Amino acid sequence: MSRRIVLATHNPHKVEEFHEIVRATRPDLTVVGYDGPEPVEDGVTFAANALIKARAAAAHTGLPALADDSGICVDVLGGSPGVFSAYWAGHRKDARANLDLLLDQLSDVADPHRTAQFVSTIALVLPGGAEHVVEGVWPGRLAAAADGPGGFGYDPIFVPDDQPRGAERTVGQWSAAEKNAASHRARAFEALGPLLAAL
Ligand code: IMP
Repeated sequence: MSRRIVLATHNPHKVEEFHEIVRATRPDLTVVGYDGPEPVEDGVTFAANALIKARAAAAHTGLPALADDSGICVDVLGGSPGVFSAYWAGHRKDARANLDLLLDQLSDVADPHRTAQFVSTIALVLPGGAEHVVEGVWPGRLAAAADGPGGFGYDPIFVPDDQPRGAERTVGQWSAAEKNAASHRARAFEALGPLLAAL
């Protein structure tokens, strides 16, 4: 019989994404969504927020629990927007307004100083109380203007490192498959593998 692991999200797409990843390491595990009370995400780091969500799901279900938290960290802004990425331009969580505000804030910042990282943090909390946190970091820089129809959030202004010189593209111009193979989430999932194997 397959064992269950709960993912602290109400988003069925995220459950499906995690299920695929978890299955690659542990075909005996089924990822299920969480429908219990949502805790207040009042942490000031990605790890703190991921742990808050995973602890709540583990406590409510009695199952091993996963939770993720992510965002974009801009060096010249001291790591902001960071945990405020989803509502950088206000609590209406408008992705286009968030991105426009960030571009505006950096309008006088020259390319060498526009370095940034996408960060994805995943927490795993076990019913016995053991806690693990893994992180994936995707380095790059901010474009001068938004470009590309793909992805979501800050994808149209994020230019990952390690692209052929002169042919750099924003993640908004990447295919979903390209992004999924290289992203901060892919890197965090890679770090999660050994933890799942040892469950
Ligand atoms: P959450 O971890 O789903 O709460 O994501 C927080 C916020 O970070 C999102 O609303 C986006 O603004 C930003 N973000 C996280 N991951 C990505 C990504 O892969 N592309 C673009 N924006 C992202």
